[in-house]
Amino acid sequence: MQELTHYVDGALSAGTSGRFAEVLNPATGEVQAKVPLATAAEVDAIVAKAAEAQIGWAATNPQRRARVMMKFGQLINENMDMLAELVSREHGKTLPDARGDVQRGLEVIEVCMGAPHMLKGEYTNDGGPGIDLFSMRQPLGVVAAITPFNFPAMIPLWKMGPALACGNAMVLKPSERVPSTALALAELLKESGLPDGVLQVVNGDKEAVDALLDNDTIQGVGFVGSTPIAQYIYSRATANGKRAQCFGGAKNHMIIMPDADMDKAADALVGAGYGAAGERCMAVSVAVPVGQKTADTLIEKLVPRIEKLKVGPYTAGEDVDFGPVITKQSQDRINALITSGVDQGATLVRDGRGFSLQGYENGFFVGPTLFDNVTPDMDIYKQEIFGPVLSQVRTDSYEDALKLTMDNEYGNGTAIFTADGDTARDFAHRVNVGMVGINFPIPVPLSYHSFGGWKKSAFGDLNQYGPDAFKFYTRTKTVTTRWLSGIKEGGEFNFKAMD
Ligand code: NAD
Repeated sequence: MQELTHYVDGALSAGTSGRFAEVLNPATGEVQAKVPLATAAEVDAIVAKAAEAQIGWAATNPQRRARVMMKFGQLINENMDMLAELVSREHGKTLPDARGDVQRGLEVIEVCMGAPHMLKGEYTNDGGPGIDLFSMRQPLGVVAAITPFNFPAMIPLWKMGPALACGNAMVLKPSERVPSTALALAELLKESGLPDGVLQVVNGDKEAVDALLDNDTIQGVGFVGSTPIAQYIYSRATANGKRAQCFGGAKNHMIIMPDADMDKAADALVGAGYGAAGERCMAVSVAVPVGQKTADTLIEKLVPRIEKLKVGPYTAGEDVDFGPVITKQSQDRINALITSGVDQGATLVRDGRGFSLQGYENGFFVGPTLFDNVTPDMDIYKQEIFGPVLSQVRTDSYEDALKLTMDNEYGNGTAIFTADGDTARDFAHRVNVGMVGINFPIPVPLSYHSFGGWKKSAFGDLNQYGPDAFKFYTRTKTVTTRWLSGIKEGGEFNFKAMD
């Protein structure tokens, strides 16, 4: 069995804890590798080495750092298939989806090639007699990133690109379920010219995370994962005086107005609801048609589309629509939630429980599931399912649909499908959700904007990637200067002006 490692000071490095986690093949249930779980002492040693490396990296001019990003982008492109294969092998998502995972991360690296422009700072000339002011953005030092299983390439890239381009060193703790992609990215960064130690990858679980949160050298923490852990990490990191941005779970609603193009809405719901087995923080999990006729039409259009979906292992070819979920526990939890939906009175239109595939009987598959007549008191509505389960909640008016969306505790993404510009505009302006799509089901902002939810989907002030990331990964220092040449009056120095 493959034994994975950490990545320390520019080389793969075996763990010394003697503790390991199993890395599974979600399509077969087999253990395909084991990954070391670092102790607090190992983490502290790795952070100390990152701190040494950061000094030289911060002193490297921004354009040279940007050139490392350029080379990194080129190498990611050249190694796209290798990276996608690693993503699919451990996560189980299809290869086209895995390439999308890498691509969306690469786009953030592309923006980081222009980091010098983002780091320029501000200047005020003649703020007073002989007085000029300038502000500069300086790196934080050593920062930590703790990332989830569902985007093994994209989210580590969202974190490492801006952090490194700003002159920080980063200790990345990827999800222990999908550790290989982060290790491969670290090797590509070395090949791109990143000095050893500037990116360290430490594998581990809660012990490693807590060590990062309690380590005084770590100045900033970027987290992506489930809401309870996001909340925990935000509190512990900020209590320890660190800057933190922690992105959590989601329950994304898509409103379908009676004037919407219903075929396009149904296509969008199938892609956004079932793509990647629903394991996306921007997946649409709640369809909110306005009016009974809209709801009936939607079900009529969804059912044949769902029946055509092909579920299988990524190795079965590119016509597979989605793969297994990540673990047996996740599969069991999703199946139990489907059962609870039935017990609590929702109408089960398509049932994905008991899905089985010849040769993959031990894989963690759940078939596409559709519920109608879901109400906000049901567990399938209240909980983030993170599986291929779409719930339809019927509403009588646009105001009811908007209220439902706004009352939900999560606020990551939302969408409205309509032909009416006024309704679309009203929705975009009033809804209390961070990312909004108009006739666009998964409104992940492009990499030169920033990504982040509201309410229980995000903790912290700044979003990830784009302009916000350059603020998060730097501190502002403002220098006020006074020089005598600026206070000359009639060719003479006016010393009174200096008082
Ligand atoms: P998770 O919260 O279980 O794990 C995320 C990370 O936290 C992992 O690295 C894990 O090792 C670590 N961790 C887990 N338990 C911990 C604990 N008790 N103490 C300290 N660290 C701990 O999340 P996941 O299952 O890997 O990912 C799925 C979740 O991520 C979903 O809720 C999804 O919505 C969310 N997500 C959010 C976004 C976003 O941008 N808002 C993006 C992707 C995924």
